[in-house]
Amino acid sequence: MDENNWDPFDEDEFAEAMQRRTEELYSVKDLPPDDEGLIEGAVLPMRDVVIYPHMVSPLFVGRESTLWAIEEAQSKNQTVLALTQREPSNDNPGPDDFFPIGVEMAVGRLLNMPDGSYSALVQARRRVELIDFTQVEPYLRVRVRPVYESVRVDREIDATMRTAVELFNRCIQLNRSLPEEAHLFALNIEEPGWLADMIATSISPNLKERLKLLAMVDPRKRLESVVSLLAKELDVLELEDEIQSRTKSEVDRTQREFYLREQMKVIQTELGEGDPWMAEIAELRARIESVGLPEEAELRAIKEVSRLTQMPPVSPEVGIIRTYIDWILELPWDKLTEDNLDVGNAAQILDEYHFGLPKAKERILEFIAIKKLRPKKTRQPILCFVGPPGTGKTSLGRSIAVALDRKFVRLSLGGVRDEAEIRGHRRTYIGALPGRILQTMRRAESSNPLFMLDEIDKLGTDFRGDPASALLEVLDPEQNNSFSDHYLELAFDLSRVMFITTANTDATIPPALLDRMEVIEFPGYIEEEKLEISRRFLIPRQLEENGLDDEDIRFSEQALQRIIREYTYEAGVRNLEREIGRVCRKIARLKAEEKPFPTQIASTSIEKFLGPPQFFNLEAEREDEIGVATAVAWTANGGEIMPVEVLLIDGKGNLQLTGQLGEVMQESAQAALSYLKSRAHELGIDPEVFESIDIHLHIPEGAIPKDGPSAGITIASALTSAFTQRKIRRDVAMTGEITLRGRVLPIGGVREKVLAAHRAGVKTVIIPSRNVKDLVDVPKKARNDLDIRPVDHLDEVLEVALLPPEPKAKRPKTATHRKAKRVTPPEDLDL
Ligand code: ADP
Repeated sequence: MDENNWDPFDEDEFAEAMQRRTEELYSVKDLPPDDEGLIEGAVLPMRDVVIYPHMVSPLFVGRESTLWAIEEAQSKNQTVLALTQREPSNDNPGPDDFFPIGVEMAVGRLLNMPDGSYSALVQARRRVELIDFTQVEPYLRVRVRPVYESVRVDREIDATMRTAVELFNRCIQLNRSLPEEAHLFALNIEEPGWLADMIATSISPNLKERLKLLAMVDPRKRLESVVSLLAKELDVLELEDEIQSRTKSEVDRTQREFYLREQMKVIQTELGEGDPWMAEIAELRARIESVGLPEEAELRAIKEVSRLTQMPPVSPEVGIIRTYIDWILELPWDKLTEDNLDVGNAAQILDEYHFGLPKAKERILEFIAIKKLRPKKTRQPILCFVGPPGTGKTSLGRSIAVALDRKFVRLSLGGVRDEAEIRGHRRTYIGALPGRILQTMRRAESSNPLFMLDEIDKLGTDFRGDPASALLEVLDPEQNNSFSDHYLELAFDLSRVMFITTANTDATIPPALLDRMEVIEFPGYIEEEKLEISRRFLIPRQLEENGLDDEDIRFSEQALQRIIREYTYEAGVRNLEREIGRVCRKIARLKAEEKPFPTQIASTSIEKFLGPPQFFNLEAEREDEIGVATAVAWTANGGEIMPVEVLLIDGKGNLQLTGQLGEVMQESAQAALSYLKSRAHELGIDPEVFESIDIHLHIPEGAIPKDGPSAGITIASALTSAFTQRKIRRDVAMTGEITLRGRVLPIGGVREKVLAAHRAGVKTVIIPSRNVKDLVDVPKKARNDLDIRPVDHLDEVLEVALLPPEPKAKRPKTATHRKAKRVTPPEDLDL
């Protein structure tokens, strides 16, 4: 067992320590004789207190037996013998319940405490060793032997004492509860045992340590023990100190910041600035109030601002709310521009920027006139400009805005499939924004702009909702004064907007929308119009854009014609303008490099500027042929001519159709063939031939899908030509639906088709007579150039298109030649 490391509560260890102590005791030289010096006295039982010799301390007296013991000692002027209980909670300890080492004490006055207990001031004198008990009742009395300590101080003890005092001093510096004077007191103690006891009292180790120190009668060992206790204590104190100073510096920093912030607030208040976040919110609120929003919008914006005040500025929701408020602020709620309703001025502006287009211009001037006469009338017509690309729909819209002094905005609806694109997403979606209508309105910066909705014919529909119905709400004068956007959730008034829609065809515009609109046709231009537009608008604009002067270059008429015929193939003038632009750029470069450049652009130099021609006049190269008829078809680009080819081959009477023909066109071919069969006799065709050959019908270009009933008479003509071996005139183009009885029915897009035929250099155009009314929109020049033949029956078509049979018809060099002999061309045709 370690000499210093034993447990006073462990009986065995305790007994062993006592044995050692006895040996120590008897090794001390000035030991008094055995029985002499023994003292007898009352026991002062100590629960958990150890008071070392020389110390003075108040002592709480609770037990009656203790009180008697003290009173008796006082009455006899005796000391008491303080013994520490082994078990602190034992209220009535017997002879076996005490540590055998105690302290002799003098007791001062007994003080009555308010609660009925007593307190006594005691002064400890010396250690005593328990010999035996002399009395148990009514209180304990014992005989003890005082312990004498050696007071010899050698160098080693002296050094230990100094170390102890030094360490003790440092403890005092770190532990505020120790008085400064304790150091001075310790310095003045000359006995090592006393010094040890004094320090032990001051640093108050736990009961176990205190008992051990009490039992250590050798002063040197006791002092060494105390030194090691001091070292431990110092460690703990230093650690505490470090932690404290760290906490303190943290607390200091926070306090400093708090202080600075408070100061900043004071300074800001002095300067009239206040908390920046609150200032920002106040500014926002002021902006909302000053903008003059409609009541509902203002209330909503203010409500959102109040939500902001309850959030820290770093909250992610702040951004979402601010975006929303910004949208409310930036929409042109009641911002109106004043209309210029001067009809004369408008007419002048429209003419200034656009050639031709009389119908459209007239309608617009009417609109302005009515607006002037009935300013309060809110119901505005919605115009729908229908025509091929590049025919001036958008630019006319822009000119109308200029004439009216309105802002101009455009929105393309091409490919819009989702209702949310029109109406926006609800704010619960991440990154939600208003729909395109309100986005465009914000760009307009006024609530009565001219709003062009482009490509309304290309609106899509899918599972995400029908954009057309949302658009209906936009365009419907009954509803659009309170258009609701999912994001904004506030009614927005669109009734003052002038909407103009554009489309390439009205066939694919949703009927409900078409119903609400007034269609104005932009049919496309004939060559003469294109020349005029080029000279008056396109060339001057391109010269200016490329930094050239009017005097710099002149395009000859032939040069422009070549560009129109061989480099562009269109109903509008968009590509024409681009090609003119290309010529201008090339010249601009020559001019910039200070090289000579031509001032006259002749038709012969076009190839130098634009490279080899892109389009050829196919008509000019074609010959009259058997089995090939010319159809005119409507396309989104205006119109085109299209050959329909028929070939007869050995087979079993099948009809094969190629060239990506749609269902309607296939049925149209079936109808034409049926009609042909029914008229075989009149046309001089052997009815049996239909059983022994296959018919292959092809319409190039194979890769482009085609559909519609209007090729009916062309297919019938080609079939008739093939079966009768009569050639078809190459300069005849035709369009018209055919019935099983051979009647020709009207079709759509006549204007574009006639213009396309004119563009292609065709001489004669066959159209259904019921379409003659549509010719009014065709420019006079084209009507005069063309031989337009209205027809009601296929017989009339064949009469115009088919050449008379050649008397000695050679067998055609087609796969049909072997069967051809069976096809006997009639001598005279009854057509
Ligand atoms: P669209 O909207 O029909 O596709 P644009 O309005 O974009 O066609 O017209 C294409 C170009 O042709 C524009 O530069 C336009 O100024 C010009 N243009 C078209 N038609 C005319 C016209 N009748 N007079 C003058 N310029 C025209």
